[in-house]
Amino acid sequence: MKLKLVKPKEFDVKDWIVSVLRRASYKTPQYTQAHKTAKTPVPVGYPNKRLKFLYKCQICKFDFPMKETQVDHIIPVVPVTGWTKLPDGKWDFNPIIYNMIEGKLQVVCKPCHKKKSKKENATRRLLNKMMELMIAKNNNLADWEDTLMSDLFPALGLEKPKKAKKRKVNK
Ligand SMILES: [Zn+2]
Repeated sequence: MKLKLVKPKEFDVKDWIVSVLRRASYKTPQYTQAHKTAKTPVPVGYPNKRLKFLYKCQICKFDFPMKETQVDHIIPVVPVTGWTKLPDGKWDFNPIIYNMIEGKLQVVCKPCHKKKSKKENATRRLLNKMMELMIAKNNNLADWEDTLMSDLFPALGLEKPKKAKKRKVNK
């Protein structure tokens, strides 16, 4: 038998905290509440006779069997602005703990959840990019206006605003 070599993943305390807290959040009243809110009776003639309930995706509003749904933190656990550090330079776990344990939850279908996370990740990447640009002493707003326009708006699923026309100056 051939052994598959798996490169051990470097331990990341941030990932670890998030995964531990995620498991803990399944025990919160909000988790139960999210299912209660989404629970809906199976319509007459539904193909799977063994199912008693379906769960309404709070984004697309379609009903799904529980195993096709996931529970989503409405406000992302790791803020799109990223992790913050305490004055002593250590990671601040408090906002993450708060969002994970206290944050409002909703039942969503897997495709909607994927789409939402993708949007959040795109925003995260973009904000990082903007920070990099700013740190690179490129603080002229006009210089990254294009970045904003071409990346941020589509990332957020918004339409690009039209550029203001330059006013003609009559001499
Ligand atoms: Zn959905």
